[in-house]
Amino acid sequence: MTVLPVIGITAAFDEEEERYSLSRYYVEAVARAGGIPLIVPPLSFEMAAAVLEKIQGLLLSGGGDLDPAYFGEEPLPYTKGINPRRDIFELALARAALVRQVPVLGICRGMQVLNVAAGGTIYQDLILGTAHPLKHYQEAPRWYGTHDIEIQPGSKLHSVLGVRRLRVNSFHHQAVRQIAPGFKISALARDGVVEGIELGNHPFVVGVQFHPEGMWEREPVFLGLFTALVKAAKKR
Ligand code: MN
Repeated sequence: MTVLPVIGITAAFDEEEERYSLSRYYVEAVARAGGIPLIVPPLSFEMAAAVLEKIQGLLLSGGGDLDPAYFGEEPLPYTKGINPRRDIFELALARAALVRQVPVLGICRGMQVLNVAAGGTIYQDLILGTAHPLKHYQEAPRWYGTHDIEIQPGSKLHSVLGVRRLRVNSFHHQAVRQIAPGFKISALARDGVVEGIELGNHPFVVGVQFHPEGMWEREPVFLGLFTALVKAAKKR
């Protein structure tokens, strides 16, 4: 009998509706990659470490903006969708995962959570980082790639995806500014926007700004990210 690794996937919380939520795409990608998806709602700071004891891998999902207070800034009008419960819990979860060497895949907001948890910063809007940004918030369907990324040769992302250039979807208005200590950039868009980061000295900590969970059904190359997370989780 093969034992499948449990992959915790963080869920969103809607304060008004009083409802937890997570897109089916994350769940199905993890299941397809051979992991048991466990939906993890925002819990207390103290619960983060306890949750990590129960999972072999962590997927930080997409969502609204982090409170800029976590990277030392007051909010600008660009920032939207701050969710205090989610921020507190996911930052605690990410920090504990880095310390305990739990494999992590951070998607969109999840990549930004990873960067901030490790001491990096975020542009509250893309326009602050580049005078002529590409369109990073597409209206095209989720499964459709709208801009290219260039992947760093020799990066983990390169070995996982096996290509140097990839057309990805894009649903973000913020971007990584200062890379956290120990992390490196693994992919850039043509306008210089960071589309991937990863941590060297750790079994598997990979962040991507695009949404592979929305694309793998039509373009199997994107499933590679989930397969790599599950594979790293199996080794725990
Ligand atoms: Mn983008």
